[in-house]
Amino acid sequence: MVHLNPNTTPAADVPVIEHAKVIIVGAGPVGLFLALKLAKASIQVMVLEAENAVLQSPRATTYMPIVLNELEKVGLYEDVERAGFKNKEGVTYRTSNAKGGNVLARLEMSQIPKGAVKYDFAGIHLGQHSLAEILLTHCQREKNFSIKWGHRFVGVKQGGPQDPVTVNCLAIGEKFFTCDYLVGADGAGSSVRRSQCIAFEGFTWQDFRFVASNVKYPFEEYGFTTANMIVDEEDWAVIARTGPGDAPWRVAFGVRMTVPESEILTQIPEKYERLFPGPRPLKYELVSANPYWAHQRVAATLRVGKVILCGDAGHSNNPIGGLGLTTGLMDAAALGNCLIRIYTHGEEADGLLDRYSRVRRNAWMEFTNPGSIDFKLRIHSTHPEVEASRKEFFDSLNSDPDISMKVATMMNNVVEDEFALPEDSFKDIPATA
Ligand SMILES: Cc1cc2nc3c(=O)[nH]c(=O)nc-3n(C[C@H](O)[C@H](O)[C@H](O)COP(=O)(O)OP(=O)(O)OC[C@H]3O[C@@H](n4cnc5c(N)ncnc54)[C@H](O)[C@@H]3O)c2cc1C
Repeated sequence: MVHLNPNTTPAADVPVIEHAKVIIVGAGPVGLFLALKLAKASIQVMVLEAENAVLQSPRATTYMPIVLNELEKVGLYEDVERAGFKNKEGVTYRTSNAKGGNVLARLEMSQIPKGAVKYDFAGIHLGQHSLAEILLTHCQREKNFSIKWGHRFVGVKQGGPQDPVTVNCLAIGEKFFTCDYLVGADGAGSSVRRSQCIAFEGFTWQDFRFVASNVKYPFEEYGFTTANMIVDEEDWAVIARTGPGDAPWRVAFGVRMTVPESEILTQIPEKYERLFPGPRPLKYELVSANPYWAHQRVAATLRVGKVILCGDAGHSNNPIGGLGLTTGLMDAAALGNCLIRIYTHGEEADGLLDRYSRVRRNAWMEFTNPGSIDFKLRIHSTHPEVEASRKEFFDSLNSDPDISMKVATMMNNVVEDEFALPEDSFKDIPATA
Protein backbone atom coordinates (compact mmCIF):
# COMPACT_ATOMS: atom_id res chain seq x y z
CA MET A 1 0.00 0.00 0.00
CA VAL A 2 1.39 3.40 -0.96
CA HIS A 3 0.00 6.23 1.11
CA LEU A 4 1.65 9.51 0.21
CA ASN A 5 0.54 11.69 3.08
CA PRO A 6 1.94 10.40 6.36
CA ASN A 7 -0.33 12.70 8.40
CA THR A 8 -3.56 11.06 7.39
CA THR A 9 -4.88 7.54 7.63
CA PRO A 10 -7.41 5.94 5.31
CA ALA A 11 -10.98 5.94 6.53
CA ALA A 12 -11.25 2.21 6.01
CA ASP A 13 -8.97 -0.69 5.48
CA VAL A 14 -8.72 -0.24 1.72
CA PRO A 15 -5.70 -0.23 -0.60
CA VAL A 16 -5.32 3.53 -0.97
CA ILE A 17 -2.89 4.34 -3.73
CA GLU A 18 -2.54 8.12 -3.50
CA HIS A 19 -3.53 11.16 -1.45
CA ALA A 20 -4.16 14.73 -2.62
CA LYS A 21 -5.32 17.70 -0.58
CA VAL A 22 -8.19 18.27 -2.98
CA ILE A 23 -9.61 15.74 -5.42
CA ILE A 24 -11.88 17.10 -8.15
CA VAL A 25 -14.13 14.72 -10.07
CA GLY A 26 -14.55 15.90 -13.68
CA ALA A 27 -12.17 17.52 -16.16
CA GLY A 28 -14.81 19.82 -17.63
CA PRO A 29 -14.12 23.56 -17.74
CA VAL A 30 -15.34 24.03 -14.16
CA GLY A 31 -13.20 21.27 -12.64
CA LEU A 32 -10.11 22.34 -14.57
CA PHE A 33 -10.57 26.02 -13.70
CA LEU A 34 -10.81 25.17 -10.01
CA ALA A 35 -7.78 22.87 -10.32
CA LEU A 36 -5.76 25.65 -11.92
CA LYS A 37 -6.63 28.14 -9.18
CA LEU A 38 -5.64 25.69 -6.47
CA ALA A 39 -2.47 24.44 -8.12
CA LYS A 40 -1.34 28.03 -8.70
CA ALA A 41 -1.79 28.65 -4.98
CA SER A 42 0.46 25.65 -4.21
CA ILE A 43 -2.43 23.42 -3.11
CA GLN A 44 -1.97 19.86 -4.28
CA VAL A 45 -4.91 18.91 -6.47
CA MET A 46 -5.82 15.78 -8.42
CA VAL A 47 -8.51 15.53 -11.09
CA LEU A 48 -10.28 12.22 -11.75
CA GLU A 49 -11.93 12.09 -15.18
CA ALA A 50 -14.02 9.20 -16.49
CA GLU A 51 -13.14 9.80 -20.14
CA ASN A 52 -9.70 9.57 -21.71
CA ALA A 53 -9.67 13.16 -22.99
CA VAL A 54 -11.58 16.44 -22.69
CA LEU A 55 -15.21 16.00 -23.87
CA GLN A 56 -15.74 17.41 -27.39
CA SER A 57 -19.57 17.64 -27.48
CA PRO A 58 -20.98 20.99 -28.75
CA ARG A 59 -22.03 22.96 -25.68
CA ALA A 60 -21.08 26.40 -24.28
CA THR A 61 -19.64 28.96 -26.68
CA THR A 62 -19.79 32.33 -24.91
CA TYR A 63 -17.80 33.82 -22.01
CA MET A 64 -19.13 37.06 -20.64
CA PRO A 65 -17.09 39.86 -19.06
CA ILE A 66 -17.79 38.66 -15.52
CA VAL A 67 -16.07 35.35 -16.38
CA LEU A 68 -13.28 36.95 -18.41
CA ASN A 69 -12.38 38.93 -15.32
CA GLU A 70 -11.91 35.66 -13.37
CA LEU A 71 -9.92 34.03 -16.19
CA GLU A 72 -7.66 37.08 -16.22
CA LYS A 73 -6.80 36.60 -12.53
CA VAL A 74 -5.15 33.22 -13.24
CA GLY A 75 -3.37 34.34 -16.41
CA LEU A 76 -5.73 32.74 -18.93
CA TYR A 77 -7.21 35.79 -20.59
CA GLU A 78 -4.63 36.23 -23.37
CA ASP A 79 -4.90 32.61 -24.54
CA VAL A 80 -8.69 32.75 -24.53
CA GLU A 81 -8.68 36.06 -26.41
CA ARG A 82 -6.26 34.63 -28.98
CA ALA A 83 -8.23 31.42 -29.52
CA GLY A 84 -11.70 32.96 -29.46
CA PHE A 85 -13.75 35.52 -31.36
CA LYS A 86 -14.63 38.81 -29.68
CA ASN A 87 -18.27 39.73 -30.00
CA LYS A 88 -17.98 43.48 -30.59
CA GLU A 89 -21.45 43.71 -32.10
CA GLY A 90 -23.88 42.53 -29.45
CA VAL A 91 -27.00 40.43 -30.04
CA THR A 92 -29.40 40.50 -32.98
CA TYR A 93 -33.01 39.30 -32.62
CA ARG A 94 -34.54 38.12 -35.91
CA THR A 95 -37.43 36.19 -37.34
CA SER A 96 -36.69 32.83 -38.94
CA ASN A 97 -35.71 32.78 -42.61
CA ALA A 98 -39.03 31.07 -43.38
CA LYS A 99 -40.80 34.13 -41.91
CA GLY A 100 -38.67 36.69 -43.74
CA GLY A 101 -35.46 36.81 -41.68
CA ASN A 102 -36.25 40.34 -40.47
CA VAL A 103 -34.27 42.04 -37.75
CA LEU A 104 -36.57 42.71 -34.78
CA ALA A 105 -34.07 44.44 -32.49
CA ARG A 106 -30.36 44.73 -31.81
CA LEU A 107 -28.31 45.18 -28.69
CA GLU A 108 -25.40 47.21 -30.04
CA MET A 109 -22.05 47.26 -28.25
CA SER A 110 -20.78 49.92 -30.67
CA GLN A 111 -22.96 52.48 -28.86
CA ILE A 112 -20.89 52.10 -25.71
CA PRO A 113 -18.29 54.85 -25.29
CA LYS A 114 -14.70 53.54 -25.30
CA GLY A 115 -13.37 52.98 -21.80
CA ALA A 116 -16.83 53.17 -20.20
CA VAL A 117 -16.69 49.52 -19.13
CA LYS A 118 -13.72 47.22 -18.48
CA TYR A 119 -14.51 44.97 -21.47
CA ASP A 120 -16.21 46.95 -24.22
CA PHE A 121 -17.54 43.89 -26.01
CA ALA A 122 -20.31 41.41 -25.27
CA GLY A 123 -18.06 38.40 -24.69
CA ILE A 124 -15.62 35.99 -26.27
CA HIS A 125 -16.96 33.11 -28.38
CA LEU A 126 -15.04 29.84 -28.09
CA GLY A 127 -16.21 26.23 -27.84
CA GLN A 128 -16.05 25.02 -24.24
CA HIS A 129 -13.87 22.06 -25.26
CA SER A 130 -11.27 24.60 -26.48
CA LEU A 131 -11.51 26.51 -23.20
CA ALA A 132 -11.02 23.19 -21.35
CA GLU A 133 -7.96 22.37 -23.50
CA ILE A 134 -6.44 25.79 -22.71
CA LEU A 135 -7.15 25.23 -19.00
CA LEU A 136 -5.56 21.78 -19.17
CA THR A 137 -2.41 23.16 -20.81
CA HIS A 138 -2.09 25.75 -18.03
CA CYS A 139 -2.79 23.12 -15.33
CA GLN A 140 -0.11 20.81 -16.71
CA ARG A 141 2.51 23.51 -16.15
CA GLU A 142 1.80 23.41 -12.41
CA LYS A 143 3.73 20.97 -10.22
CA ASN A 144 0.82 20.64 -7.76
CA PHE A 145 -1.56 19.37 -10.46
CA SER A 146 -2.17 15.81 -11.57
CA ILE A 147 -4.92 14.19 -13.60
CA LYS A 148 -6.08 10.61 -13.92
CA TRP A 149 -7.90 9.96 -17.18
CA GLY A 150 -10.19 6.95 -17.47
CA HIS A 151 -11.04 7.05 -13.74
CA ARG A 152 -14.78 6.97 -13.10
CA PHE A 153 -15.81 8.07 -9.60
CA VAL A 154 -18.20 5.57 -8.02
CA GLY A 155 -18.19 6.18 -4.29
CA VAL A 156 -16.98 8.16 -1.31
CA LYS A 157 -16.70 7.58 2.41
CA GLN A 158 -16.42 10.42 4.87
CA GLY A 159 -15.19 9.61 8.35
CA GLY A 160 -14.92 11.94 11.34
CA PRO A 161 -13.82 15.58 11.05
CA GLN A 162 -10.12 14.66 11.31
CA ASP A 163 -10.29 11.72 8.91
CA PRO A 164 -9.48 11.95 5.23
CA VAL A 165 -12.19 11.37 2.66
CA THR A 166 -11.83 8.04 0.84
CA VAL A 167 -12.72 8.05 -2.85
CA ASN A 168 -13.52 4.98 -4.91
CA CYS A 169 -13.00 4.90 -8.68
CA LEU A 170 -13.29 2.44 -11.51
CA ALA A 171 -10.29 2.55 -13.82
CA ILE A 172 -8.61 -0.64 -14.96
CA GLY A 173 -9.88 -2.34 -11.85
CA GLU A 174 -11.00 -0.58 -8.69
CA LYS A 175 -8.89 2.20 -7.13
CA PHE A 176 -9.01 4.14 -3.88
CA PHE A 177 -7.67 7.61 -3.15
CA THR A 178 -7.82 9.85 -0.11
CA CYS A 179 -8.16 13.61 0.13
CA ASP A 180 -9.02 16.42 2.54
CA TYR A 181 -11.85 17.67 0.28
CA LEU A 182 -13.69 16.04 -2.61
CA VAL A 183 -15.22 18.38 -5.21
CA GLY A 184 -17.91 17.11 -7.58
CA ALA A 185 -17.50 18.97 -10.89
CA ASP A 186 -18.89 16.01 -12.79
CA GLY A 187 -21.74 17.67 -14.65
CA ALA A 188 -25.52 17.68 -14.32
CA GLY A 189 -25.77 13.89 -13.85
CA SER A 190 -23.21 14.16 -11.02
CA SER A 191 -22.37 10.86 -9.33
CA VAL A 192 -20.76 12.81 -6.50
CA ARG A 193 -24.07 14.62 -5.84
CA ARG A 194 -25.95 11.32 -5.98
CA SER A 195 -23.43 9.64 -3.65
CA GLN A 196 -24.54 12.12 -0.94
CA CYS A 197 -28.27 11.65 -1.72
CA ILE A 198 -28.57 15.39 -2.42
CA ALA A 199 -31.85 16.15 -4.19
CA PHE A 200 -31.63 17.97 -7.56
CA GLU A 201 -34.65 20.22 -7.09
CA GLY A 202 -36.61 21.88 -9.89
CA PHE A 203 -37.93 20.65 -13.22
CA THR A 204 -36.98 19.34 -16.65
CA TRP A 205 -38.46 21.15 -19.66
CA GLN A 206 -41.18 19.04 -21.28
CA ASP A 207 -42.00 21.27 -24.25
CA PHE A 208 -38.86 20.93 -26.37
CA ARG A 209 -35.65 18.89 -26.44
CA PHE A 210 -32.62 20.99 -27.34
CA VAL A 211 -30.36 20.19 -30.26
CA ALA A 212 -26.93 21.80 -30.43
CA SER A 213 -25.28 21.53 -33.84
CA ASN A 214 -21.98 22.88 -35.15
CA VAL A 215 -22.09 23.70 -38.83
CA LYS A 216 -19.94 25.46 -41.40
CA TYR A 217 -22.03 27.99 -43.29
CA PRO A 218 -21.25 31.62 -44.30
CA PHE A 219 -23.87 33.32 -42.10
CA GLU A 220 -21.89 36.60 -42.07
CA GLU A 221 -22.42 36.91 -45.86
CA TYR A 222 -26.13 37.24 -45.13
CA GLY A 223 -25.81 39.91 -42.43
CA PHE A 224 -25.69 37.65 -39.37
CA THR A 225 -23.76 39.09 -36.43
CA THR A 226 -21.69 37.08 -33.93
CA ALA A 227 -24.77 36.21 -31.80
CA ASN A 228 -28.29 35.89 -33.21
CA MET A 229 -31.53 34.86 -31.54
CA ILE A 230 -34.25 33.59 -33.86
CA VAL A 231 -37.66 34.40 -32.36
CA ASP A 232 -40.36 31.94 -33.36
CA GLU A 233 -42.96 29.77 -31.69
CA GLU A 234 -41.59 26.60 -33.38
CA ASP A 235 -38.39 27.47 -35.20
CA TRP A 236 -36.68 29.40 -32.42
CA ALA A 237 -32.93 29.10 -32.40
CA VAL A 238 -29.61 30.57 -31.38
CA ILE A 239 -27.11 31.05 -34.20
CA ALA A 240 -23.68 32.13 -33.05
CA ARG A 241 -20.00 31.89 -33.89
CA THR A 242 -17.98 29.33 -31.97
CA GLY A 243 -14.64 30.94 -32.76
CA PRO A 244 -12.60 32.87 -35.33
CA GLY A 245 -11.83 32.09 -38.98
CA ASP A 246 -13.52 29.02 -40.33
CA ALA A 247 -14.61 27.71 -36.91
CA PRO A 248 -18.13 26.30 -37.27
CA TRP A 249 -21.22 28.26 -36.20
CA ARG A 250 -23.42 26.99 -33.41
CA VAL A 251 -27.02 26.45 -34.44
CA ALA A 252 -29.07 25.42 -31.40
CA PHE A 253 -32.79 24.83 -31.73
CA GLY A 254 -35.70 22.96 -30.17
CA VAL A 255 -37.48 19.80 -31.24
CA ARG A 256 -40.92 18.98 -29.89
CA MET A 257 -41.17 16.18 -27.33
CA THR A 258 -43.44 14.26 -29.73
CA VAL A 259 -40.43 13.52 -31.95
CA PRO A 260 -38.97 10.13 -30.91
CA GLU A 261 -35.36 10.16 -29.64
CA SER A 262 -34.12 8.19 -32.67
CA GLU A 263 -35.53 10.81 -35.06
CA ILE A 264 -34.32 13.98 -33.36
CA LEU A 265 -31.19 14.43 -35.46
CA THR A 266 -33.04 13.60 -38.69
CA GLN A 267 -34.94 16.90 -38.21
CA ILE A 268 -31.79 18.90 -38.92
CA PRO A 269 -32.11 19.39 -42.74
CA GLU A 270 -35.72 20.62 -42.45
CA LYS A 271 -34.86 22.92 -39.53
CA TYR A 272 -31.90 24.39 -41.39
CA GLU A 273 -34.14 24.92 -44.41
CA ARG A 274 -36.45 27.12 -42.32
CA LEU A 275 -33.65 28.87 -40.41
CA PHE A 276 -30.79 29.52 -42.80
CA PRO A 277 -30.56 32.57 -45.07
CA GLY A 278 -29.08 32.30 -48.56
CA PRO A 279 -29.69 30.53 -51.86
CA ARG A 280 -31.23 27.07 -52.20
CA PRO A 281 -30.29 24.28 -52.35
CA LEU A 282 -28.45 24.97 -49.08
CA LYS A 283 -24.78 23.96 -49.01
CA TYR A 284 -23.40 23.46 -45.52
CA GLU A 285 -21.04 21.14 -43.69
CA LEU A 286 -22.52 19.61 -40.55
CA VAL A 287 -19.66 19.10 -38.07
CA SER A 288 -21.47 17.69 -35.04
CA ALA A 289 -24.87 17.59 -33.37
CA ASN A 290 -26.23 16.40 -30.05
CA PRO A 291 -29.67 16.39 -28.45
CA TYR A 292 -29.98 17.49 -24.79
CA TRP A 293 -32.59 17.57 -22.09
CA ALA A 294 -32.84 21.01 -20.54
CA HIS A 295 -33.41 21.44 -16.82
CA GLN A 296 -33.91 24.14 -14.23
CA ARG A 297 -32.55 22.29 -11.25
CA VAL A 298 -30.38 23.08 -8.26
CA ALA A 299 -28.87 20.83 -5.60
CA ALA A 300 -30.52 21.14 -2.18
CA THR A 301 -27.05 21.99 -0.83
CA LEU A 302 -23.62 22.42 -2.42
CA ARG A 303 -21.87 20.94 0.58
CA VAL A 304 -22.11 17.84 2.76
CA GLY A 305 -19.14 17.75 5.13
CA LYS A 306 -15.98 17.61 3.02
CA VAL A 307 -17.83 16.88 -0.22
CA ILE A 308 -18.59 20.02 -2.22
CA LEU A 309 -20.38 20.59 -5.54
CA CYS A 310 -19.42 23.02 -8.28
CA GLY A 311 -20.76 23.89 -11.76
CA ASP A 312 -23.43 21.75 -13.43
CA ALA A 313 -23.08 19.17 -10.64
CA GLY A 314 -24.73 21.78 -8.40
CA HIS A 315 -27.16 23.38 -10.86
CA SER A 316 -28.36 23.04 -14.41
CA ASN A 317 -30.35 25.45 -16.56
CA ASN A 318 -31.47 25.67 -20.18
CA PRO A 319 -28.66 26.99 -22.39
CA ILE A 320 -30.41 30.02 -23.95
CA GLY A 321 -28.56 33.13 -22.81
CA GLY A 322 -25.34 31.28 -21.97
CA LEU A 323 -25.62 31.42 -18.19
CA GLY A 324 -24.82 27.80 -17.22
CA LEU A 325 -21.07 27.67 -17.56
CA THR A 326 -20.89 31.35 -16.61
CA THR A 327 -22.38 30.44 -13.23
CA GLY A 328 -20.24 27.29 -12.95
CA LEU A 329 -16.99 29.16 -13.57
CA MET A 330 -18.03 31.75 -10.97
CA ASP A 331 -18.63 28.85 -8.52
CA ALA A 332 -15.14 27.57 -9.22
CA ALA A 333 -13.69 31.06 -8.68
CA ALA A 334 -15.50 31.35 -5.33
CA LEU A 335 -14.71 27.81 -4.14
CA GLY A 336 -11.09 28.23 -5.22
CA ASN A 337 -10.84 31.38 -3.11
CA CYS A 338 -12.45 29.63 -0.12
CA LEU A 339 -10.04 26.68 -0.26
CA ILE A 340 -7.06 29.01 -0.70
CA ARG A 341 -8.23 30.99 2.33
CA ILE A 342 -8.53 27.77 4.32
CA TYR A 343 -5.12 26.34 3.33
CA THR A 344 -3.05 29.48 2.88
CA HIS A 345 -4.64 31.92 5.31
CA GLY A 346 -5.72 29.41 7.97
CA GLU A 347 -9.38 30.47 7.93
CA GLU A 348 -12.01 28.34 9.61
CA ALA A 349 -13.29 25.83 7.04
CA ASP A 350 -16.84 25.01 8.14
CA GLY A 351 -18.19 28.54 8.16
CA LEU A 352 -16.52 29.46 4.87
CA LEU A 353 -17.69 26.36 2.99
CA ASP A 354 -21.23 26.74 4.32
CA ARG A 355 -21.20 30.30 3.05
CA TYR A 356 -19.91 29.12 -0.33
CA SER A 357 -22.86 26.72 -0.56
CA ARG A 358 -25.40 29.34 0.45
CA VAL A 359 -24.07 32.21 -1.67
CA ARG A 360 -23.53 30.26 -4.89
CA ARG A 361 -26.85 28.42 -4.57
CA ASN A 362 -28.58 31.77 -4.08
CA ALA A 363 -26.75 33.25 -7.08
CA TRP A 364 -28.25 30.49 -9.21
CA MET A 365 -31.72 30.79 -7.61
CA GLU A 366 -31.92 34.56 -7.83
CA PHE A 367 -30.15 35.29 -11.11
CA THR A 368 -29.32 32.29 -13.32
CA ASN A 369 -32.61 30.44 -12.91
CA PRO A 370 -35.03 33.32 -13.61
CA GLY A 371 -32.64 34.83 -16.18
CA SER A 372 -32.30 31.65 -18.22
CA ILE A 373 -36.07 31.00 -18.09
CA ASP A 374 -36.68 34.56 -19.36
CA PHE A 375 -34.15 34.11 -22.17
CA LYS A 376 -35.83 30.88 -23.29
CA LEU A 377 -39.40 32.12 -23.14
CA ARG A 378 -38.47 35.41 -24.81
CA ILE A 379 -37.54 33.61 -28.03
CA HIS A 380 -40.52 31.29 -28.37
CA SER A 381 -43.38 31.74 -25.90
CA THR A 382 -46.79 32.94 -27.05
CA HIS A 383 -48.03 33.56 -23.51
CA PRO A 384 -49.59 37.05 -23.48
CA GLU A 385 -47.41 38.22 -20.56
CA VAL A 386 -44.24 37.04 -22.27
CA GLU A 387 -45.32 38.62 -25.55
CA ALA A 388 -45.92 41.93 -23.77
CA SER A 389 -42.54 41.83 -22.03
CA ARG A 390 -40.80 40.82 -25.28
CA LYS A 391 -42.41 43.79 -27.04
CA GLU A 392 -41.36 46.12 -24.24
CA PHE A 393 -37.76 44.78 -24.39
CA PHE A 394 -37.52 45.09 -28.19
CA ASP A 395 -39.11 48.57 -28.09
CA SER A 396 -36.53 49.73 -25.60
CA LEU A 397 -33.69 48.21 -27.66
CA ASN A 398 -35.03 50.08 -30.69
CA SER A 399 -35.73 53.42 -29.04
CA ASP A 400 -33.84 53.93 -25.75
CA PRO A 401 -30.45 55.49 -26.62
CA ASP A 402 -29.01 54.37 -23.28
CA ILE A 403 -30.17 50.75 -23.39
CA SER A 404 -26.94 49.28 -24.78
CA MET A 405 -24.96 51.07 -22.09
CA LYS A 406 -27.34 49.79 -19.41
CA VAL A 407 -27.07 46.19 -20.62
CA ALA A 408 -23.30 46.42 -21.10
CA THR A 409 -22.91 47.78 -17.60
CA MET A 410 -24.97 44.86 -16.31
CA MET A 411 -22.89 42.33 -18.30
CA ASN A 412 -19.69 43.99 -17.12
CA ASN A 413 -20.99 43.97 -13.64
CA VAL A 414 -17.79 42.68 -12.09
CA VAL A 415 -19.55 42.33 -8.77
CA GLU A 416 -17.85 42.70 -5.42
CA ASP A 417 -16.62 39.15 -4.80
CA GLU A 418 -17.50 38.19 -1.27
CA PHE A 419 -14.87 35.43 -1.34
CA ALA A 420 -12.13 37.66 -2.75
CA LEU A 421 -8.64 36.83 -1.65
CA PRO A 422 -6.51 39.23 0.31
CA GLU A 423 -4.36 41.26 -2.12
CA ASP A 424 -1.19 39.27 -1.55
CA SER A 425 -2.58 35.74 -1.93
CA PHE A 426 -0.57 34.88 -5.01
CA LYS A 427 2.62 36.53 -3.74
CA ASP A 428 5.55 34.28 -2.91
CA ILE A 429 3.94 31.31 -4.57
CA PRO A 430 6.81 29.11 -5.77
CA ALA A 431 7.55 29.13 -9.50
CA THR A 432 5.52 26.62 -11.44
CA ALA A 433 7.12 23.35 -12.55
C1 LIG B 1 -26.28 23.15 -26.15
C2 LIG B 1 -25.67 23.81 -24.97
C3 LIG B 1 -25.16 25.08 -25.10
C4 LIG B 1 -24.63 25.74 -23.98
N1 LIG B 1 -24.16 27.00 -24.12
C5 LIG B 1 -23.68 27.67 -23.04
C6 LIG B 1 -23.09 28.98 -23.19
O1 LIG B 1 -22.99 29.55 -24.28
N2 LIG B 1 -22.63 29.59 -22.06
C7 LIG B 1 -22.70 28.98 -20.84
O2 LIG B 1 -22.28 29.61 -19.84
N3 LIG B 1 -23.19 27.71 -20.69
C8 LIG B 1 -23.67 27.05 -21.76
N4 LIG B 1 -24.12 25.76 -21.62
C9 LIG B 1 -23.98 25.08 -20.33
C10 LIG B 1 -22.57 24.44 -20.19
O3 LIG B 1 -22.32 23.54 -21.26
C11 LIG B 1 -22.45 23.74 -18.86
O4 LIG B 1 -22.83 24.65 -17.86
C12 LIG B 1 -20.99 23.26 -18.65
O5 LIG B 1 -20.68 22.14 -19.44
C13 LIG B 1 -20.75 22.89 -17.19
O6 LIG B 1 -19.41 22.54 -17.04
P1 LIG B 1 -18.96 21.51 -15.93
O7 LIG B 1 -17.46 21.49 -16.01
O8 LIG B 1 -19.64 21.83 -14.66
O9 LIG B 1 -19.56 20.12 -16.39
P2 LIG B 1 -19.27 19.27 -17.70
O10 LIG B 1 -18.81 20.14 -18.81
O11 LIG B 1 -20.49 18.44 -17.92
O12 LIG B 1 -18.04 18.35 -17.29
C14 LIG B 1 -18.20 17.27 -16.40
C15 LIG B 1 -17.00 16.33 -16.55
O13 LIG B 1 -17.12 15.30 -15.58
C16 LIG B 1 -16.86 14.04 -16.16
N5 LIG B 1 -17.55 13.03 -15.35
C17 LIG B 1 -18.89 12.80 -15.28
N6 LIG B 1 -19.14 11.80 -14.42
C18 LIG B 1 -17.94 11.39 -13.94
C19 LIG B 1 -17.55 10.39 -12.99
N7 LIG B 1 -18.44 9.60 -12.39
N8 LIG B 1 -16.23 10.23 -12.73
C20 LIG B 1 -15.30 11.02 -13.34
N9 LIG B 1 -15.61 11.98 -14.25
C21 LIG B 1 -16.93 12.16 -14.54
C22 LIG B 1 -17.39 14.19 -17.57
O14 LIG B 1 -16.80 13.22 -18.45
C23 LIG B 1 -16.96 15.62 -17.90
O15 LIG B 1 -15.65 15.68 -18.43
C24 LIG B 1 -24.62 25.09 -22.72
C25 LIG B 1 -25.12 23.77 -22.60
C26 LIG B 1 -25.62 23.13 -23.71
C27 LIG B 1 -26.16 21.74 -23.57
